[in-house]
Amino acid sequence: MKTFSNRVNAITASPTLAMNALAKQMQAEGTDVINLGVGEPDFQTPKNISDAAIEAIQAQKTSFYTPASGLPALKQAIVENVGQRYEAGITTQNVSVTTGAKLSLYVLMQVLLNPGDTVVTAAPEWVSYVEQIKLAGGELIEVHPESLSMKLTVSDLDKIKETVKLVIVNSPTNPTGQVYSRQEIQDILDWASTHGAYVILDEIYGQLVYNGAEFTSGLQLQPLENSAMIIVDGVSKAYSMTGWRIGWTLASSEIISAMNKLLGHMTSNPTVVAQYAAIEALSGEQDTVEKMRKAFEQRLNTTFEAVNKINGVHVDIKPQGAFYLFPQVDEKLMKLVGVSNTVELSTKILEEAHVALPAGEGFGMPGYLRLSYAKDQDTLNEAVLRLTQFFKKYT
Ligand code: PLP
Repeated sequence: MKTFSNRVNAITASPTLAMNALAKQMQAEGTDVINLGVGEPDFQTPKNISDAAIEAIQAQKTSFYTPASGLPALKQAIVENVGQRYEAGITTQNVSVTTGAKLSLYVLMQVLLNPGDTVVTAAPEWVSYVEQIKLAGGELIEVHPESLSMKLTVSDLDKIKETVKLVIVNSPTNPTGQVYSRQEIQDILDWASTHGAYVILDEIYGQLVYNGAEFTSGLQLQPLENSAMIIVDGVSKAYSMTGWRIGWTLASSEIISAMNKLLGHMTSNPTVVAQYAAIEALSGEQDTVEKMRKAFEQRLNTTFEAVNKINGVHVDIKPQGAFYLFPQVDEKLMKLVGVSNTVELSTKILEEAHVALPAGEGFGMPGYLRLSYAKDQDTLNEAVLRLTQFFKKYT
């Protein structure tokens, strides 16, 4: 019998993408499903960005491979953008552009991990870290932080007995929306430096912080050269460019060269038209980013309050960034609904209330649901109404 590799057999399909596919299928069949399952801003990509891509096509800037690490002009735009945002002095040698931040993370795991190497991250964590670590043969230690904020702390790290190769921190965090303070990031970097570990700071939601919260980038704390700190970022979330698939890694030139070696055999380069769009995103006017940020802030404020009004459903600490709520569902309520876990609950909600919400299990945290508020306010109001009515039916 023909078989697949052990590698692929060992991984699980992305539960958020699976829920998204199911919701889309139900929609195609005529069901009015509200899909709050996927981390996708509902705004159109700003016009100046799309226009830059159209111009690149019209100017025939498409019939060549770019360097595996991206167009020099895009790398320069990234250098200048982070220079302005964080006063960070990096060069294009510290940049590798990839087909989305997801690929940056995948390639980093391949570059950094040998089979058996230990990787630490805090639960709940973004679903793809887990499978990408597995694909590289790494062993994940999923820390369940003591603090209510669910942020990884040095006291959590100190309890680990194994030698740690890599720590992953995502701030603002998907799915909790928590933002790590400057001191918290600094402490983790110091711990990693003492213990000889790499740190990946996933800053993909760095521009999306609300209600006065302050985002700290690792670039404000340490230079990249000769450092084990690695930053991952991209245009998907802040510029509403999920479909364009442009992300990047910022790291020491040594790490970047190793990544580029691999990328040269994987993608050759990210799509050139999307790279031209990303240059405009980073160096063109930034007002639309602020407009979208403000809209997310408004939606967070209303949806956080509305969700907390549902009896038995609660978000204990208000998110400060990203665009997710991660409410906990009381066991008593789940019993009344007749389900024994949140996977069953999310399926029942989709079937009966027609709202798609992935279960916490996929994020290493059973008992929770993830709700993306990257939808317009009317849709969010309707979703909360449906959820309220759904739970009322059983109580
Ligand atoms: N990191 C986190 C925490 C995310 O939530 C996502 C997307 O959902 C990514 C990375 C990947 O972003 P992209 O591949 O669209 O750049």
